[in-house]
Amino acid sequence: MQLAIIGTGYVGLVTGTCFAETGNDVMCIDINEDKIRQLKDGKSPIYEPGLDILLERNIKERRLQFTTSLQDGIRDAQVIFLALPTPPGKDGAADLQYVLDVAAQLSTLITSYKVIVNKSTVPVGTAEKVAAVMAQKLDRSLFDVVSNPEFLREGVAVEDFLKPDRVVIGTSSEKAKKLMDELYQPFVRQGNPIYFMDERSSEMTKYAANAYLAMRISFMNEMANLCEKAGANVDWVRVGIGSDSRIGKRFLFPGVGYGGSCFPKDVQALAQTAREMDYDFRIVNTVMGVNEHQKTRLGKKIKELFGSDLSGKIFALWGLAFKPETDDIREAPALYLIEELLEAGAQVKVFDPEAMENVKRIYGDKILFATDQYDAVSGADALTIVTEWSEFRNPDFKRINELLKNPVIFDGRNVYTLEKMEDLGFYYESIGRKVVHQQLKDKIALPETTIIRERGTLD
Ligand code: NAD
Repeated sequence: MQLAIIGTGYVGLVTGTCFAETGNDVMCIDINEDKIRQLKDGKSPIYEPGLDILLERNIKERRLQFTTSLQDGIRDAQVIFLALPTPPGKDGAADLQYVLDVAAQLSTLITSYKVIVNKSTVPVGTAEKVAAVMAQKLDRSLFDVVSNPEFLREGVAVEDFLKPDRVVIGTSSEKAKKLMDELYQPFVRQGNPIYFMDERSSEMTKYAANAYLAMRISFMNEMANLCEKAGANVDWVRVGIGSDSRIGKRFLFPGVGYGGSCFPKDVQALAQTAREMDYDFRIVNTVMGVNEHQKTRLGKKIKELFGSDLSGKIFALWGLAFKPETDDIREAPALYLIEELLEAGAQVKVFDPEAMENVKRIYGDKILFATDQYDAVSGADALTIVTEWSEFRNPDFKRINELLKNPVIFDGRNVYTLEKMEDLGFYYESIGRKVVHQQLKDKIALPETTIIRERGTLD
């Protein structure tokens, strides 16, 4: 099938590449000339595991092409996907300007029947809005508008797209349904379902999924905070409830709050949709507040130990991306912590395997960029872990101990076991678990930091 994808970002590029991989001819369109230039040279502008190989193969076989011209890009397409940004507007509602602008442009360019598929995350009623905008200039028989929300997770996006748990398609057109079914069949050969439903239910499904997942994380974050007060270990509570088949094991890890390009904006947008419909969606409103609070947890713990004035202190920060295996830093909790530490007068020395360039663009020389994870801890007063990249799981603790001014670790992702930290002798604070080697607290807090390596097996 001939396809066009408008918007070649995290979703558009993965969508286009995976459709090309199943034999379709795909034209990816973007207004960002730099991005298109890189892609034409065969380079991916984003880090997404497994994407490079598929890109290379499909570009070579000419099934995947790139352009900045909307007119050229859509000319031969039977199906046009919109994978455009839907950032939060002032009131928190999803800003539809990108989607509606493109819809208006399409209405002047289309000359034969095409299916317009909305893959962007958009509020309920958007398919109707897109159709109304297009119908101003284009005969209604020449297009259908379909809702097809995307559930891929950055970091495993290719795998998610190629083997989706389910595909959701909202359409009331039999013609569009047939084309969409044909397009997605290669991805559900193992028997996972394609759910056809009406447009509004499809649009709502995406927000329901993200708000529910954000709520699950927030519930565990609150549970973790309570565990700290109650002297319980949230890791045990997590496995204790996760093995209940009604609950399930996934999305129960507490941390420093959810971030990324989706959860924060989608939860906000759902709350706004509810307000517009005169419904007080209390759980969703609460989730947002809980998450704001959780983002401050690590900073609070640091200040409780070192005092609220952190001038003269240096903090190593491991992990900048909002989660491992991506370079995406949109709404990343690490950025929140950096701000808090800088405001308190500290210096921050950061390391991330993939997201350094994106953070450099924001902070320039306001923070220090380490050459590797050990360079980050060198001379730092404490190590803070914000994103649980695999390479942080089993580091050389002896080396870390030698490089840090004090053996202090703040772990926002519960990467290490308490037993290990006990044995190694680090002062260790994590989320929802007891503080390890708490007795070192007074020594670390001394105005002139003292070297306190008197315990543990590292010496
Ligand atoms: P992104 O910012 O990575 O990509 C959007 C792209 O659209 C950019 O490359 C931008 O240059 C391009 N663009 C903007 N205006 C354009 C125009 N007029 N014509 C052509 N291109 C244009 O965004 P993303 O993360 O891919 O998200 C896209 C949509 O998918 C959003 O609605 C998002 O909520 C949704 N979504 C994202 C994810 C995710 O994990 N990133 C998952 C599911 C759904």
